[in-house]
Amino acid sequence: MNSAEGKFIVVSNAEPYKHEKEEDGEPVCKEVEGGLTTAMNPQMKDTGGTWIAFGRGEKDFEVTDPDGIIKVPDFPGMPEEDQYTLKRLNFSDSQYRNFYRGYANRILWPIFHSFPTKADLRKEYTYWKEGYLPTNKEYARAVIQAYEPGDTVWIHDYHLALVPRLIRNELPEAKIGLFWHIPWPPWESFGKIPHREEILKGLAAADLVGLHLEEYARNLLSCAEKVGAELDYSSERFQLESEETQVGAYPLGVDYRFFNGTDTGDEEANIRDKYNCESLILGVDRQDYTKGIPERLRAFKKFIKDNPELRKEVALIQRTPPSRTGIKEYQVEKSEINKQVSEFNGKFGTHDWTPIQLFWKGVPQRDLIAEYRAADIGLVTPGLDGMNLVAKEFVAANEKPKVLILSEFAGSSRQLEEALLVNPYDPAQVAEAIKEALEMPEEEKQERWRRLRRKVRTEDLPTWAEDFLADLEDARQLHSMTRFTFPESEPERGVS
Ligand code: UDP
Repeated sequence: MNSAEGKFIVVSNAEPYKHEKEEDGEPVCKEVEGGLTTAMNPQMKDTGGTWIAFGRGEKDFEVTDPDGIIKVPDFPGMPEEDQYTLKRLNFSDSQYRNFYRGYANRILWPIFHSFPTKADLRKEYTYWKEGYLPTNKEYARAVIQAYEPGDTVWIHDYHLALVPRLIRNELPEAKIGLFWHIPWPPWESFGKIPHREEILKGLAAADLVGLHLEEYARNLLSCAEKVGAELDYSSERFQLESEETQVGAYPLGVDYRFFNGTDTGDEEANIRDKYNCESLILGVDRQDYTKGIPERLRAFKKFIKDNPELRKEVALIQRTPPSRTGIKEYQVEKSEINKQVSEFNGKFGTHDWTPIQLFWKGVPQRDLIAEYRAADIGLVTPGLDGMNLVAKEFVAANEKPKVLILSEFAGSSRQLEEALLVNPYDPAQVAEAIKEALEMPEEEKQERWRRLRRKVRTEDLPTWAEDFLADLEDARQLHSMTRFTFPESEPERGVS
């Protein structure tokens, strides 16, 4: 992976390690599971990198220095050469609420997922002024402090769209990449955001903006054009005021070696014994209205109604860790799901068969691997999802052929074409796909699975990071030759 000679500065909302309270009250370091840590840890260690993130662990600030800095991971006996710097940012409750629960997740998240009716646009200005803007400024300030010439700055996601520009104002020569982990919608949705130009100007100052899919990259370019950017569609570049950026598609992959290679012992057999069913169908989704859980339950109901002979032979396990619990739309959906499941189980269940097992609890990825392996069918039907890693993890975890039913509105469906692709809003079609999955001839199952696994293995997490970082290097070199050749207006200076 190309980092030239400098270090990596990774910037994200979620931190790679948090400190929680042990039973004895002492702080203990825990890895925050998620692809980014796995992808970046080797480079962070090798280059003595700095990770800048919000510190959300209960004991996070008891273990850092007064500037929020700590070497991680600080597991007992961890040699210093295997550690890197984590700079934790701390915000007041109200600022963080306006930033995270407000602007990021009640404005950007719904609008970028084309659910504008779930957005709270009435409070857009407060969320922006008291949350998004000051928080992005604090992130930028921390990057500027940590930066040394030759470093590579890699910013992650929709929480931090303004950071590239805020950094660029101070560090014109910095190499800045940003990866956008959610979809980029067409102008009809994006254009509804009052601060749409600031968001695009923020991104325009990065050397490279990565998205999961070509269609998201094209949407971003055409949104930029609508606010007056000059475009070069063929090389996927746009220039807005004096800033010019490259846009590209980099579909995020999973850590295939981990999901394929982790030994789960007897766990898979234990899970199957517990449900005592011929076939297990598995859904795993953070609770979110984009994940299509109520629609999935309706489709499963249709399947059960249409196929009385298959009752008792199947069960749906739905694992749904709660998320963003402080937001009204999430609470409303949770009640709806609970109601659907209890009505369903009440109507169809018997003393020895519970058709839907719903778990409002997340489990560590190691336990999830056992569930992936215990299942016969992965049912992944989001209404819209930037990528959806669960679909890829299900494939990576299972050497034995299974069937994946996948929404055509999940970004991963562009790569995982051998899944049974469905419209999640069509319960009859999803119900049919469940039947088809249960009855699929072994040979077809094996052939589809072989192809799916090859893609998930070759288009994996390290490949994603390598591809992005190699293009970032090239984009920076190009910009260092061309930057400021079109100085139409002076950029705002300073981040104070
Ligand atoms: N996950 C987990 N434990 C759970 C449920 C999910 O660790 O109980 C992880 C899962 O392995 C996956 C991630 O959460 O890596 C979900 O990613 P995805 O892209 O599917 O959806 P997101 O939550 O990012 O929208």
